[in-house]
Amino acid sequence: SDVLLLEAISKTYGKGGPAPVPVLSDLSLRVGRGEVVALVAPSGAGKSTLLHIAGLLDTPDTGRVLLDGQDMTGQSDKARTEARREALGFVYQFHHLLPEFSAIENIVLPQLANGVAGNAAHARARDLLERVGLSHRAEHRPAQLSGGEQQRVAFCRALANGPKLLLADEPTGNLDPATSDRVFDVLMGLVRDTGLAALIATHNPELAARMDRVIQLDVRQG
Ligand code: ADP
Ligand code: ADP
Repeated sequence: SDVLLLEAISKTYGKGGPAPVPVLSDLSLRVGRGEVVALVAPSGAGKSTLLHIAGLLDTPDTGRVLLDGQDMTGQSDKARTEARREALGFVYQFHHLLPEFSAIENIVLPQLANGVAGNAAHARARDLLERVGLSHRAEHRPAQLSGGEQQRVAFCRALANGPKLLLADEPTGNLDPATSDRVFDVLMGLVRDTGLAALIATHNPELAARMDRVIQLDVRQG
């Protein structure tokens, strides 16, 4: 069964105005359970737009977005926010960790916000940190961690609430090539371990080739 199904999505910015920008037209894609799909796109092809639509931050002009079989098209903002919190994990090129909190607190806080008890949240955060090899960094703040370590903490935070789908935008894009490679291995291990479905945007063809499937977006000519 599909964790994410985009059905015939179209999106044009500035529709009806003097300079419409057609970005996605009649695009369909699926990400199955446990499947890791690479999203490869030249700049301007609509990668961010697609990730925003899949992440329920934006809506398509036409087409449907199904998350774990549930049609999210036309749902209220409240329902979409709830689905984001419960079913989706996000990783960005830059970690966006809270600077005044430790690594473990950054993984605990989203769980507390979701109603998880403190003890359980800490146990899960410790388990995730161990999986990414950062048990010894739990009490450090982001600024005390290397770039690769910061991204690994960000992966843990994305998985803190047990999402069904991970959406990642160049998750190792700000790291040097060797670190990127190692940190990507950690991410793939984490995703495989948890049986998570993932849609991972990358410019790196070698990283894309290590995923189950590659979806290539092309730039549309208006
Ligand atoms: P990518 O992430 O692949 O670089 P985007 O999804 O950010 O592409 O954008 C795709 C195209 O849509 C680009 O040409 C961009 O300039 C245009 N675009 C993005 N957002 C807007 C917007 N809010 N209004 C008008 N054009 C936009
Ligand atoms: P990398 O080898 O990934 O480039 P760095 O050379 O930046 O990492 O850092 C090496 C180690 O030192 C890392 O384990 C990092 O957590 C630690 N470290 C870096 N800066 C600090 C700091 N200000 N306080 C404590 N530990 C730090």
